Amino acid sequence: MEVLDVDTLVCGGGMSGMACAAFAAEAGAKTLVIEKQGGIGGSSSLSAGMFWAPHTYDKLRSWVPNGDPELQRAWLDEYLPAVQWMRENGIPTAKRFDGIMTIGIGFPIQMSFLHKSHQQRIAASDNGSRILTNTSIVKLTQDDPGVPGSRINGAIICEHNPGGSVIYYQVKAKLVVLATGGFQGSPSMTAKYLGHGGDNIFVRSNRGSVGDGLSLAIAAGAGTSKGLNTFYGHLLAAPLRAEDASPHDYLPLAQYQSKYCILLNEAGRRFTDETMGDEIVNQYLAKQEKRRGFLLFNEITRRQHCMGALFPNAGDVDRLQKARDYGCNVGKASTLGELFEILRTWGVDHVQAADTVEKYDQVVRHGQRNLGLDAPVGRAGAPPSPLVDGEGPFYAMEVQPSITFTYGGISIDTQGRALTRDKTIIPGLLVAGVDAGGFSNLGYTGGLALAFVTGLWAARSVARELGLVEPCLPAADARDSRPLQSRL
Ligand SMILES: Cc1cc2nc3c(=O)[nH]c(=O)nc-3n(C[C@H](O)[C@H](O)[C@H](O)COP(=O)(O)OP(=O)(O)OC[C@H]3O[C@@H](n4cnc5c(N)ncnc54)[C@H](O)[C@@H]3O)c2cc1C
Repeated sequence: MEVLDVDTLVCGGGMSGMACAAFAAEAGAKTLVIEKQGGIGGSSSLSAGMFWAPHTYDKLRSWVPNGDPELQRAWLDEYLPAVQWMRENGIPTAKRFDGIMTIGIGFPIQMSFLHKSHQQRIAASDNGSRILTNTSIVKLTQDDPGVPGSRINGAIICEHNPGGSVIYYQVKAKLVVLATGGFQGSPSMTAKYLGHGGDNIFVRSNRGSVGDGLSLAIAAGAGTSKGLNTFYGHLLAAPLRAEDASPHDYLPLAQYQSKYCILLNEAGRRFTDETMGDEIVNQYLAKQEKRRGFLLFNEITRRQHCMGALFPNAGDVDRLQKARDYGCNVGKASTLGELFEILRTWGVDHVQAADTVEKYDQVVRHGQRNLGLDAPVGRAGAPPSPLVDGEGPFYAMEVQPSITFTYGGISIDTQGRALTRDKTIIPGLLVAGVDAGGFSNLGYTGGLALAFVTGLWAARSVARELGLVEPCLPAADARDSRPLQSRL
């Protein structure tokens, strides 16, 4: 087996891996990025490019109380400087947008510019750093093989060539960074960690993230975070199988408007407070029998919330038409009675649905108590919409849960170092992006920005370990007394 000698091996060429590699290479570390798929970017290349984070630390804590407070604080401290970095490094970054995922602020960035810039910085480092695509990590190597927590000294990687041949290399590396993007694509792992039916949820992600980072880290003695059974995703139009949908339609197929709708299960009952936000109710629908959901809404909601997404770039098209184009169940009726008849044809308990809607409406319009509804009405987030406000037409759409990435992951510290179950550092092993746990669970604290910042943490640890100057983000201008938040 050919041996490759590098300072840093970065496994995964997505949002966190590319950020880590560019900062590490620029700092002077000879860095090899391996990316399993034919091109870099991972899920970030499918994303809306909304570089977001919770507005304040207090909001973050109240939204994700089971996250690790130290990690959450450290990540949020670097968020606005990271936005500033985008601006100063020529990455087109639009103006601030408020109200992301209920608790956040965000800045839409151009992903293709960011990845091009990372590639250029890696190439310009002139120290032999490079990117190999169609290449995967298959095994970590350790000083004392089989001894949990012993120093990681490299990996076995495997390159798949177009002709079908496979070449294995032994990589000797002072540091290995796992940035493989989570375990959502592994049916055996989602069944194990997400619980019954976890392997039957639509995977709305790049195809390469199948839990390699988590499996390899656990085998090397790493511990895991809380929240391994929680995940990020959105309600998607249904019925639709992942293999029949183009990944480029993942944004327009997501039903961001759910917080302005009534969400029923097949039994015609509500099971969650819709106003908590689509990424939360998505996880509750995954727990319902058969995971079939039905959004009911009126013409006002269709016009206001179904033609565009809740934030810029998130697939601003007619969501109902896109769902129809895929043959999903979308119904339109001039009366509520007709709407319940449509639900009946889809196999929903339409009598119960009518009862639920009537009670829901009384609660919303007349402020009556819960009237025996199965879930609270409008306690969180947006005020609930009365379904029968104004005239029809009324709409029903079948939805299913989806999983974009998993929240739980490898236990790390604020320098991106992998930890064992008893919180001892595993020398030589760093983790970034979705592979790292402790930031979100049930509540969502961000994807792209978190991946960028944790990639930077890993790069800093590389530089520190090699005695190089540590990469940093722009410091606040001491002459400007305004908080960074109001300057961006
Ligand atoms: C449709 C969609 C929209 C989104 N929109 C947003 C948004 O607007 N804002 C936001 O904050 N987040 C968004 N996200 C989430 C965001 O893209 C992810 O949180 C982010 O990309 C995670 O970065 P990562 O580096 O951990 O994983 P990724 O960017 O997914 O990269 C992981 C990479 O690792 C590779 N890999 C896996 N296994 C191996 C292996 N064994 N060896 C080598 N390589 C491997 C994968 O092929 C992949 O390229 C969206 C995601 C999707 C799918």
